[in-house]
Amino acid sequence: MALLLAGYSAATNKAVLDRYLNLSQPEHKILATYVWIDGTGEFIRNKTRTLDFHPKHSSELPIWIFDGSSTYQAEGSNSDVYLYPCAMYQDPFNKGKNKIVLCETYKYNKTRTETNHRQSCLEAMQKAADQHPWFGIEQEYVILDQDSYPFGWPKNGFPTPQGPYYCGVGANKIFGRDIVEAHYRACLFAGIKICGTNAEVMPSQWEYQVGPCEGISAADDLWVSRYILHRVAEDFGVNITLDCKPMTGPWNGSAMTPNFSTKAMRDDNGILEIERAIEKLSRHHLRHMKVYDLREGKDNERRLLGVLESSDIHHFSAGVADRGCSIRIPRSVAEDRKGYLEDRRPASNADPYQVTEVLVRTVCLDE
Ligand code: ADP
Ligand code: MN
Ligand code: MN
Ligand code: MN
Repeated sequence: MALLLAGYSAATNKAVLDRYLNLSQPEHKILATYVWIDGTGEFIRNKTRTLDFHPKHSSELPIWIFDGSSTYQAEGSNSDVYLYPCAMYQDPFNKGKNKIVLCETYKYNKTRTETNHRQSCLEAMQKAADQHPWFGIEQEYVILDQDSYPFGWPKNGFPTPQGPYYCGVGANKIFGRDIVEAHYRACLFAGIKICGTNAEVMPSQWEYQVGPCEGISAADDLWVSRYILHRVAEDFGVNITLDCKPMTGPWNGSAMTPNFSTKAMRDDNGILEIERAIEKLSRHHLRHMKVYDLREGKDNERRLLGVLESSDIHHFSAGVADRGCSIRIPRSVAEDRKGYLEDRRPASNADPYQVTEVLVRTVCLDE
């Protein structure tokens, strides 16, 4: 979804802002920034309140409400939507002891909003807890300039073709590294299990990885890492798109790639368990594709074309080291005969709650 923005927030002087951010904060006051997924299922909202205590766990935090009619989550006549805190992080923007509070959203009648998929994910993770499901998620994205065109691209044309950009170095290959490095440190400060980053194949396309995380924490961490990414980009006056194919033609699309294992896959000869998992996944291709983007497969129709390191949307396939397959077994996993598999199908805007849930239901719970 393209958002046209009139303002240019980075144009304000951040050095002046620091005068105020550096003011001492009263000892017993904590800023808690509540963040939640809005009615698009893709974008994140936040609002901040003061707490008079130092919370140790998200369960100590008060339930709050917001105007759901302004976030595509309620009618104006019955607009209050509940925020239920579910996970807590250090706040890299307000720093100190201040917190980011990840929240689920519930309607007036205490049922979940349409874009809140956390409880059913949690239920699946709890049922499969004895199999210790781990996820390491690769999140790709593209940095856009204020005009919604990729950041650093020549305004009236295109950069030279793909080839030199992936993991590249140099001012003619790399656009926006400041944002990437700021985001990495902010995620570490927050307590997110970020484990790496690299420049991607299309210029101004980037990736970071989170994990391995067990159970629900993978999707919780990924959502907060996305919040931090949008928020850091705001400071730099650029935008982030999670659209899975921002540029048509010979330019790579973006994915949100789960790498997945159970304890049995990580144990010796786990390759047999990985093969069993692939067999199960092959029988549920459509069910997975339905939740592998936010439009029941419509977004992925633009990306999964069987070219540019993508698989064919209509066919399930698996292979060792093959980036044109639905499922890739990394070369090192084939050599060690244990480890994990990579599902290359989810689009960059997919909901990690839905993606990790369906993997666990198909592979661990035989549903
Ligand atoms: P590539 O780009 O070659 O596919 P990356 O280094 O970008 O590889 O991503 C590998 C991902 O796999 C990381 O997110 C990492 O956390 C994850 N990972 C590693 N080991 C496991 C495992 N046993 N189970 C699940 N995920 C794993
Ligand atoms: Mn990667
Ligand atoms: Mn990648
Ligand atoms: Mn990968």
